[in-house]
Amino acid sequence: MQFIDLSVQQKRIRASIEERIRKVLDHGQYVSGPEIQELEGCLANYVGVRYAIACASGTDALLMALLAHSVGPGDLILTTPFTFIATAGVIGLLGATPVFVDVDAETFNMDSHRLEETIIALSRGGASDVPLPRPNPAGALPRGIIPVDLFGLPADYEPINAIARKHGLFVIEDAAQSFGAAYSNKMTCSLADVGCTSFFPAKPLACYGDGGMCFTDNGQLAEKLRSIRVHGMGRDKYENVRIGINGRLDTIQAAILAAKFEIFPEEVILRQEVASRYAALFRQKMSGKNPLRFQRIPADRVSVWGQYSILAPDTDERSAILEGLRKIGVPSAVYYPTPLHLQQAFHWLGYRPGDFPVSEDLAGRIFSVPMHPYLEESQQEMIVEGICGSCQN
Ligand SMILES: *Cc1c(COP(=O)(O)O)cnc(C)c1O
Repeated sequence: MQFIDLSVQQKRIRASIEERIRKVLDHGQYVSGPEIQELEGCLANYVGVRYAIACASGTDALLMALLAHSVGPGDLILTTPFTFIATAGVIGLLGATPVFVDVDAETFNMDSHRLEETIIALSRGGASDVPLPRPNPAGALPRGIIPVDLFGLPADYEPINAIARKHGLFVIEDAAQSFGAAYSNKMTCSLADVGCTSFFPAKPLACYGDGGMCFTDNGQLAEKLRSIRVHGMGRDKYENVRIGINGRLDTIQAAILAAKFEIFPEEVILRQEVASRYAALFRQKMSGKNPLRFQRIPADRVSVWGQYSILAPDTDERSAILEGLRKIGVPSAVYYPTPLHLQQAFHWLGYRPGDFPVSEDLAGRIFSVPMHPYLEESQQEMIVEGICGSCQN
């Protein structure tokens, strides 16, 4: 069994992938070929925004979105410590300072109450009960917020956007794990000033390498993003109006994504079915008290189940469960074993263990099981039985 099995999907669309790659080989425009704009138009339409800007990875999408907001030294960007390193890495890379806000214990996404507390504490130069980064440079101001749609579940954008408006901050949606999900009938990537996603092979919509995309309704921002993607180009490549990056998506990857997108809406539904089956199986097989906890999906949201993650009662029980799964040949993963404020890369922020108790608790107990649109019921039964067996020991 594989954690994410991409082979069934490939069998379904292999002919289309080969045909689309052959077209790229025929026209030879490996960089900025016509497939890029076609894909941008197609995905902007799916997401429901005016502009889409394809780029080389989800990390570049976030980096470009921050650059488009002229983020640099002296800027504070609020995000969560319970995410993949890239979310906060790009903030530090630009010389700005990540300010962490703990997540909600049930949705695992940014806690909007803590967000506002943190912004207020920053404006007052600190409050004893709100952990803030140590090297808070004099005059440093909060500029923006990056909520993360963790495991495919959209963060709580209504309160987050309202807080942002009140305090004059921008919001960048880290939708790297949530392409295809929805919040109050709006698709992810359309829920903030800019939405950023990733097409890394393990993400819901994926290419055969690295890829990403920015989405926005703001025409000026879209123009900046296009410029930043190609070294800050102006009217042409050799007029440079700002500092940018080489952040283009390869034409071949766009061709592959176009083939994959043909069946993507159907795969989103299959993902829901696989997740519902997991929930039903856990209810069935966990007779009596169920010691496991699951990510809560609020009624106004649709998750795309980028990961199916489960909370064990404690770290020891998690180890026992993962060992049990390993013995029966079921792969598993831990997203994420160390919250970002305790990573060496962010040591300079001066955070301490205990600063973000919810993230730290989740990191000690969480694990993820195989999740993809083609997971079979018999495989899911085996996985759930494996977990239940370890729990009842
Ligand atoms: C995968 C991921 C990224 C980065 O995407 P890449 O395409 O791997 O650069 C950023 N944020 C989150 C939450 C992710 O899961």
